[in-house]
Parts: sequence; C-alpha cells; structure tokens
Amino acid sequence: MTEAGEDQLKSTELQVKRLQGVKPPAGSIIMSGMRSTAKLHIGNYFGALKNWLELQKEYQGYYGVMNWHGMTTAYKTPHEVQHFVRDIYAEWIAWGLDPEKNVIFIQSEVPQHVELFMYFVMLTPMGWLERVPTWKDAEEDAKATDTHNLGRFSYPVLQAADVAVYRGTHVPVGQDQLAHLELSREVVRRFNFLYGGNIPEPKPIFSETPILLGSDGRKMSKSYGNVFNLTQEEDEVTKTLRAMPTDPARVRRTDPGEPTKCPVYTYHRMFSRPEDLSWVEEGCRSAGIGCGDCKKKLAENINALMAKPREKKKELLQRSDTLDSIIADGCQRARAKATETLNQVKEWTGFSSRGDF
Ligand code: SF4
Repeated sequence: MTEAGEDQLKSTELQVKRLQGVKPPAGSIIMSGMRSTAKLHIGNYFGALKNWLELQKEYQGYYGVMNWHGMTTAYKTPHEVQHFVRDIYAEWIAWGLDPEKNVIFIQSEVPQHVELFMYFVMLTPMGWLERVPTWKDAEEDAKATDTHNLGRFSYPVLQAADVAVYRGTHVPVGQDQLAHLELSREVVRRFNFLYGGNIPEPKPIFSETPILLGSDGRKMSKSYGNVFNLTQEEDEVTKTLRAMPTDPARVRRTDPGEPTKCPVYTYHRMFSRPEDLSWVEEGCRSAGIGCGDCKKKLAENINALMAKPREKKKELLQRSDTLDSIIADGCQRARAKATETLNQVKEWTGFSSRGDF
C-alpha cells in the first residue's frame, strides 16, 4: 500500500473509532438497503440486518431492496436480479424487520431515485468518483468481468440519491463504505449550495462488523461456493458444518486444538451463548470434546436462531397475496415520501411544472 493509502486508512480508522457508539438523535431517519444479486447469507444478517432490527426500536427507517444497484454488475441477467428481490424482502420480514414501523421498498418501484440521481450526477465532478477507493480497487475486476460501465462507476451517486430522496439523516455503514458516504455528503452539500436546498447530509452509524469466513474457512464469496445462506434447511446446516475444516492440529480425537485457529469457532462466536463458548474453548484445548461434538452444538445453536424466520419466510412466500400487499404498501409509502422530496427539488431548481418554459 502507498504512503497516501496508509494515511487514508489511518484517518478512516480514527474517524470510525471517534464515531463508534455515537447514537443518532431522536427523530433521525435511517436509510439502508441491500443489492438483490443473491440470497442473503449470514454476513448480511450479522453485518446489517441485525443492526437494523435494533435501530427500528427507536428510529423510523427506509430499507430498500436495491435492484438497480444489482444491475450495475448483473446487467446481463436482469431476471435473476428480480428473482432475488422477493426472496430478500420476505427474508427481512421473516427476521423481524417491521413493515409498518419502517418503509420497506423495492428500488425500481420508486422512480424518484433515478430522477434525483439525474440532478446529482450533473453536479458531481468525475474526479470525485475516480478518487473513491472502492472504485480504484474494483476497476480491474470491472474490466475483467465486463462491468466497466457508467452504472458501476456512478454507483455512489445513485447511493447519494437513495438516501436523499427520503431525507435520510443516518446510514449504517461498515468502515469500507465510509468513502461512499463521504461522497454522498459532498454531493448533497453541493446540491444545497447551488440551489438553496436543505437536504440533510447523511451521517454514518457504525456497528461492529464481524469477520466472516465461508464454510470452507476461506473468505466468504459466491465465487468460492462457500456462502452460508440464511434460513437454509436444518439438514443443509448439518451438511455444511460437517464439511467445515477445523484446526489442523486436531488430527486425532485426543489431540488438543486451538479454537482461534478454527473456522467453526468463528461461527460459534456469532451463534453461541457465552457458556457454550467456554465449553468449546476448554474442551478443544484439553481435547475433552471432539470436533463432531463441537459442530453438533453449533448446528443446534444455528438452527435455534433460524427456526422461526425459516418458517415465517416459507409462509410469506407461500401466501403470496399477503406478501404482495405488504410490498405494494411499502413501495407506495416510499413513493409518497420520495415525491414530496422531488417536488421540493423541482422548486429549488426551477424545474417545477409551474416554472417558466
Ligand atoms: Fe474447531 Fe471445535 Fe474442533 Fe476445536 S473442537 S478444532 S473449535 S471444531
């Protein structure tokens, strides 16, 4: 990494430390979403959804299934992107995201996102986007995968519009997304400065994001085929865990191991209670338990957490009328808020229908 890159990383880490644990004030509007390019996996739960469930206790939230964002990389398979929309929507509700307390919508059902994006993209200098670290990192991959397109390049501007269209004040982010949010703030600031608007500059909410490994102990990735999906069936959980590698030091049942060198333990840390963690640590280091016992306990804990959402999701997908009406209501409420914002935007820019032609 270059010296400038290291400096940037240090300053981001400092910012994250400073802002971690800072609670948004009452009345804040939370905005977040997920791309619809695959089924949700445990990383989506522990890295985002779990946090949303906490936030909804205190704040109004706008949560979107972002299918246009999905199209930036999956534009050749739009039907697949659409296929996951419903699955993700049902999953969120099954895990407890409340469609009445929050506004849960599908991005492409709210065209005002794109309308606001058009205003934003005009005032965003190309250099701002070229400097976004995630673009610099992704550019080679984009060229190799035929996704070196304007949509992927301008993705952070669409994100700025996604938040601004609901006048979102806070966005839950991980450290790696901070640069995107900073760009959103700059875009909104420039918009307000040029046209006398008062769209809030969104602030980050940081939560601890656990390091997640795939079921084979490598980085979790769709391309490795090691993704651990949410609400998978009980026997699939057992099967996945059975194939999971363990600390290589435990060749025989009587060999002691070190949990911190084992991917099974990283899953225990997410799914298991403190007393189970102590049982694993002690039993592994003393060879008092075998890896089979350890995985069995983990499977029980995972299934205990997934049981209710699994049933609820099935029910929602089966009773499609109920899900349809929840989706329709969420999208309608999202459009109402977004229309309000766009009406103001048109007033500020002189593009309202009452303007001079
Ligand atoms: Fe991993 Fe558990 Fe086996 Fe220890 S006992 S190596 S933590 S699976």
